[in-house]
Amino acid sequence: MGDSKNTTNLGSAFSAYLKNNGLRETFERRVIVDAVSEYTTHFDLDSLAKSIEDKGKHISRATLYNTISLLIKADLVRRQQFADGQYHYNSINTLPSGNQLHLICNVCGKVTDLRNNSVIKELGNMKFGTFSPEYISLSVYGTCARCARRQRSASRAKTNQLNLFK
Ligand SMILES: [Zn+2]
Repeated sequence: MGDSKNTTNLGSAFSAYLKNNGLRETFERRVIVDAVSEYTTHFDLDSLAKSIEDKGKHISRATLYNTISLLIKADLVRRQQFADGQYHYNSINTLPSGNQLHLICNVCGKVTDLRNNSVIKELGNMKFGTFSPEYISLSVYGTCARCARRQRSASRAKTNQLNLFK
């Protein structure tokens, strides 16, 4: 778990994987891997589907799932399930030195990645007996600043309303 950050050309790595496994490099697979490589942080399948549609291309959900599964098998994308039951994906290029600390908003679902966090660094240096860790992913659940602001103004509005009827 070093700190060096190598960027893999996802497109060519995926081409090689497909070739080695006797799979065809279809137009759809190319479109998907191109869209994935544009992310600089984690993504979910809805946002991936949307980014492809925004380019005026249509890929079926089945093809999307299938290709993401292949990318996971090729170890070019990693999937994580957060406690909200949602899956989030990271291409290997967006895993900061393998370890991540996520701040997850319980209200809007926004996920913020904290890099170079001291806790993550410390965990990265820990030994886990005979277990060989590959990477560490921690999640902190709470309320983001925007949702906290909204909640405060909503409760203020409610109080004002109640005062009107006094
Ligand atoms: Zn929020």
